[in-house]
Amino acid sequence: MNATRLADWEDKAASLVFRHQAYINGRFVDATDGRTFPTVNPFTGKVLANVARCDSADADLAVKAARRSFESGVWSRIHPRERKKVLQALAQLMEQHQEELALLDSLDMGKPVMDALTIDVPGSVGVLNWYAEAADKLYDQVAPTAQDAVALITREAVGVVAAVIPWNFPLDMAIWKLAPALIAGNSVILKPAEQSPLSALRLAELASEAGLPDGVLNVLPGYGHEVGQALGLHPDVDCITFTGSTEIGKRFLQYAGESNMKMVWLECGGKSPNLVFADCKDLDMAAKRAALGIFFNQGQVCSANARLLVERSIHDQFVSKLQAEIAGFRLGNPLDPATSLGTLVDAKQTARVLSMIQTGKQEGATLLTGGEQQQIGESDLFIRPTVFTDVTPDMTIAREEIFGPVLAIIPFDSEAEAVAIANDSIYGLAASVWTDDLSRAHRLARQLKAGTVSINTVDALDPGIPFGGFKQSGFGRDLSLHAVDKFSQLKTTWISLKA
Ligand code: NAP
Ligand code: MG
Repeated sequence: MNATRLADWEDKAASLVFRHQAYINGRFVDATDGRTFPTVNPFTGKVLANVARCDSADADLAVKAARRSFESGVWSRIHPRERKKVLQALAQLMEQHQEELALLDSLDMGKPVMDALTIDVPGSVGVLNWYAEAADKLYDQVAPTAQDAVALITREAVGVVAAVIPWNFPLDMAIWKLAPALIAGNSVILKPAEQSPLSALRLAELASEAGLPDGVLNVLPGYGHEVGQALGLHPDVDCITFTGSTEIGKRFLQYAGESNMKMVWLECGGKSPNLVFADCKDLDMAAKRAALGIFFNQGQVCSANARLLVERSIHDQFVSKLQAEIAGFRLGNPLDPATSLGTLVDAKQTARVLSMIQTGKQEGATLLTGGEQQQIGESDLFIRPTVFTDVTPDMTIAREEIFGPVLAIIPFDSEAEAVAIANDSIYGLAASVWTDDLSRAHRLARQLKAGTVSINTVDALDPGIPFGGFKQSGFGRDLSLHAVDKFSQLKTTWISLKA
């Protein structure tokens, strides 16, 4: 039976069995020293499970298992078609277990279960299928040479890849990393965020059920400064793929420098600008998307459109349209299908967002709406959608990533000024532009320093387009075939044909 009501979801949640051990070499095992840490439901405040707290000893075991599986060839050397079949089977299993997977993320980090069910799970299944289908369609190259030689340029798997991911989209982030790494033939170790380890553990089990050989996917729950650091420093990890904060991204560069110079790919923070020009014909749509662009997932989105730049002549009109959109959001129990905004992930994140709101007020921005914490049921981890107007580009709330439901509105008078403000950031993950002037759209797409520029929408996303940042938003791209390059090395084979 499909869950359609709060009571159905609560029943399903009550019957869930949480996987709580590490997953190494195809088996669930306790942490070597037996330690655990609690993963908490931010809506009820209750401990969902005490999960294996892995550290460097467990990282060693997982790296050994990954290395063994890689060198054995059970995955790395089979026909790509066989890899495709296994990943397609996993995608199918994920679809079969979609409600369970949606629930795990909703319970673990507080997002509305309906968002998880209708966006996160189908999104990750879509990405996995996209890569699975690509697995046996990637060709290598023959270089131009004189007649006396053949030069082959072939792609080889890197070896052992460690993926370290955040809590805002636990399942999607796992799949974004795993899928391209696996089709390339690598063995992978996944370290989920401490706030949201449950879906990754279930995913590993489903992957085995789909036929992924033991050791090819290992999951190590635990703390970043313990098992995350151990993977970063490990001499036998060949590649780190990371999504998370810019601060920790920089640490991974250090870890690589201090250890084996492993490859590092970083998807880090953002402070994405959304530029609305007076020549945009559909301001209603622009307001709708602007609201979603910052408040979806409680603003805990790396590419969230956190800075709204509005041409002064339409500023007041646009702000009232935005307020009308915000009035439609409903905070509530994440398991209630009527809820559009759940809790923030935990008390620490909530405190950080509230302190940024305080800073905004102190620095002289006008608090238009929201700004408060709200108690619903047992939880005080709700923050009402918050909008500041009269923000100037030098204010903290216009510069620092907040990673919560807080929008900073900055008026502008000219295109050049808008571009200058938009680019005045250490980040460059995404940008949006609303205009019906075709030349302006193209001009700005070239001028904005961001990995993705969306015109007349926000946050354009598709398995087939690269996602990632400029500047301190990181480097390397998730999604698309470009992501496969991160997990491959190029080999040149030169064959002399001289008789
Ligand atoms: P975070 O603190 O950087 O954590 C990300 C991951 O790194 C977690 O698994 C974390 O483990 C681990 N980690 C933490 N400290 C570590 C250390 N010293 N050594 C090794 N690993 C460590 O980020 P977050 O607070 O979870 O997530 C929010 C950030 O992620 C935001 O800045 C956001 O912009 C960014 N983000 C970026 C993208 C993107 O694609 N660009 C997507 C989503 C989020 P613990 O869980 O134990 O802390
Ligand atoms: Mg949790």
